[in-house]
Amino acid sequence: MPIVSNASHIGIQKSDKNSADTTVNENIKKARRAMYSLMGTGLHGENGLDSKTSISLIRTYILPILTYGLEILLPKGKILNNISIQYKKWIKQILSLNSNVADSAVYTLSGLLPIEAEIHVKAINLFGNISRANCDSIEWRLAERQLQIKPHNSCSWFIEVKELCLKYEINDLYAYLNNPLSKFQWKKLVKSKIHDYWISKITDESKGYSTLKFMDHKYNIGSVHPLAISVNANLKDIRKIPVRLKISTGNYILQTHKASFSKNNYISPTCKLCGKADETVEHFILLCEKLEETRIPLLSKILDNGSLILAKVATSFPIDLIQLIINPFCYVDINANRAVFEETSNILEPLCRQLLYNMHNKRYALLANIDKQGSRKSNF
Ligand SMILES: [Zn+2]
Repeated sequence: MPIVSNASHIGIQKSDKNSADTTVNENIKKARRAMYSLMGTGLHGENGLDSKTSISLIRTYILPILTYGLEILLPKGKILNNISIQYKKWIKQILSLNSNVADSAVYTLSGLLPIEAEIHVKAINLFGNISRANCDSIEWRLAERQLQIKPHNSCSWFIEVKELCLKYEINDLYAYLNNPLSKFQWKKLVKSKIHDYWISKITDESKGYSTLKFMDHKYNIGSVHPLAISVNANLKDIRKIPVRLKISTGNYILQTHKASFSKNNYISPTCKLCGKADETVEHFILLCEKLEETRIPLLSKILDNGSLILAKVATSFPIDLIQLIINPFCYVDINANRAVFEETSNILEPLCRQLLYNMHNKRYALLANIDKQGSRKSNF
């Protein structure tokens, strides 16, 4: 009989070195194949399906492949990092975000949980299944013995799950083993605890990034952020979203960003279009005189509709025009006033999106012109 270093058993890779590592690599490979096979349907970010459909495809088809068997192996450290990096990369691709955009923005916009949390949900739910099993079953007896005798630093799966549960404030697993909750109650408890933990973690992280100052820091697990949703699922509308998201997450590269990134060769932060001031996001959206013509018609519509809509909500802080254009959802809360939220999504947001899209196109056209003139001069 041949001696092999790793073998596959019901889809989980068993290896004499590190089963978690081999399984994670194998899962990534399979998930990548699944991603490629879905590309034909438009799952590829820019010019593809709308974000809501794409995210739901990822959740339904890719996530189960990526996390297959990992509730048993519970990957940690570098191995967990590997799978997490891959997962984030795909979500960024789907949302057409740059690779260096802050992680918390990826989760806030997609409404997806980090892969680590997805694995924890599966592991803790598996424990729930064991707790409801017959007291004579091997799994139940194993759980009872291990939870009683193993120390907290043991490598036993049950102890690892116990430690995970403590992190999410689900205390005393032994008591749950003896008095199990129903499947529905257990799932509800796990979901609420895990969601609470990650909502506060991601929201805190998000507040720490200066690039995310225009985001509203509302992490709504399970629903795509309204900034990334197109009202109509036609290509014309979908095409406007990437620019919109790049500006909202502080990843739209203007002259001031280029200047701050440049180390060795000096790049001026001055606006190339008008040459009158530094090209900050405020200058680009509100002040640059070369973009005036593109800006004025839509801006007046935004002001009219914005003041009408926002007059219906009582905000305690003054309304900032730049914030209103970059992310109007900062001022409306879906739970507080649904009607106003709908109006913002259906009327105000498409106007802001259109404005940013037009400004972006105009800016690029002008910049291309300037570059052309520059190269013509240098030819003489
Ligand atoms: Zn300018």
